[in-house]
Amino acid sequence: MGIKVAKFGGSSVADAIQIGKTKNIIEADPQRRYIVVSAPGKRFDGDTKVTDLLYLCKTHIEHHLPYEQLFQVVCDRYRVTEVNLDVKVDIQKHLDEIRANLEKGTTADYVASRGEYLNAILIAAYLGYDFVDAAGLIQFNAKGKLLAEETDRALKEELAKHERAVLPGFYGSGPDGSVKTFSRGGSDITGALVARAVGAEVYENWTDVSGLLMADPRIVENAKPISTISYKELRELSYMGATVLHEDAIYPARIADIPINIRNTNRPEDEGTLITAEAGPLADGQIITGIAGSKDFTVIAIYKNMLSDERGFVRRMTGILEDYDIPLEHLPSGIDTVCVVVSNKKLDGRLDEILEEFKQQLKPDTMDVSEDVALIATVGYGMSARPGTSAKLFTALADAGVNIRMIDQGSSEMNIIVGVENDDLEKSIQAIYDAFVK
Ligand code: ADP
Ligand code: ASP
Ligand code: MG
Repeated sequence: MGIKVAKFGGSSVADAIQIGKTKNIIEADPQRRYIVVSAPGKRFDGDTKVTDLLYLCKTHIEHHLPYEQLFQVVCDRYRVTEVNLDVKVDIQKHLDEIRANLEKGTTADYVASRGEYLNAILIAAYLGYDFVDAAGLIQFNAKGKLLAEETDRALKEELAKHERAVLPGFYGSGPDGSVKTFSRGGSDITGALVARAVGAEVYENWTDVSGLLMADPRIVENAKPISTISYKELRELSYMGATVLHEDAIYPARIADIPINIRNTNRPEDEGTLITAEAGPLADGQIITGIAGSKDFTVIAIYKNMLSDERGFVRRMTGILEDYDIPLEHLPSGIDTVCVVVSNKKLDGRLDEILEEFKQQLKPDTMDVSEDVALIATVGYGMSARPGTSAKLFTALADAGVNIRMIDQGSSEMNIIVGVENDDLEKSIQAIYDAFVK
């Protein structure tokens, strides 16, 4: 019998009622043997995720502000869940230990990770599954980079000893044994790593939507669901802000050829979205698979006469970014121009320094800088066979009164990326959606 790995996101494990739903789902299929859980998320609009509360506790301590009330809110949530689930895991003992570590000035990663740690202890007891800690199994190097192969070996060895287990998502440990977290939303990655390690037949990612929609439901009302999508298309979409699945969760599943199934904990009867190596057939007349976008990028357009004849220009330019440890998001180029697209978060206030380095080392004729740019990816294999796709997209944006700052059409012809002003992001996604989907 094959194995299914099921990861439940924050809203799916936000309180005892939600955890009850996950139990029903898990028990409905004996193949669901390895369960990965997030920290308790929002129970209603305006609620605060436990992970956010924990980060806040740490920030308060750093600023010498009282944090006890905040921590109390966290404690109360777990204690109520412990009572309502009627499990006896002495959650108070764990909370006391975390409080003591907070007092000692422990790291933000440790504090944030306790959200999933405590939830996994509670849920394991409720299901009667083993609790298997992720620290020591999910491994990072000293720089915080995941050691994928070491992790795979450690997970294989440990999970072979457990018929059924619950693991906390979002964190692992570094070479010195201290807790390290992934970036936000990282429990998706833990789930994918566990799926790879146990050779799962499917990695189920249970959340609060019935799969991936063609556009962010917070922007496009009633966006159509996507029934199947390829890993590559999804990676483009999740990288660009379709936050349903963390972008780094795709690689472990893809190399092990494990399909990912996005499902809705509140509507388990829905089939959700299936993500596999091959893109499924698109609905009749449909050209694109989905649209996603995110804000806060900077575009530096560098012009230099005869740039195309110059040797080593791009190498020197990327070298400068490398020195600052800033990843290059995109590099659309023309004959005598190169556009450098970097994220504002990674720039971290060092734009002027970098422009100065560009000036000194690249000697451009001019440089145009647009800060606060949003990038929007329109993705789908269906686009390559259709002439006029980009014209349709640009017309839709022009009709909506959007000023395009940058265009990058991937050579795979499976996506077109446009840069627009931050404030135009929502309007642009809606316009593209209306042009291609309605
Ligand atoms: P979880 O806590 O279960 O990991 P997330 O909040 O990380 O859930 O992801 C689910 C959310 O992603 C949805 O509630 C929705 O608001 C958002 N989202 C953004 N883009 C999309 C999209 N294209 N399709 C579906 N949901 C999307
Ligand atoms: N709890 C973490 C977060 O809120 C990780 C996750 O939910 O995937 O980012
Ligand atoms: Mg998530």
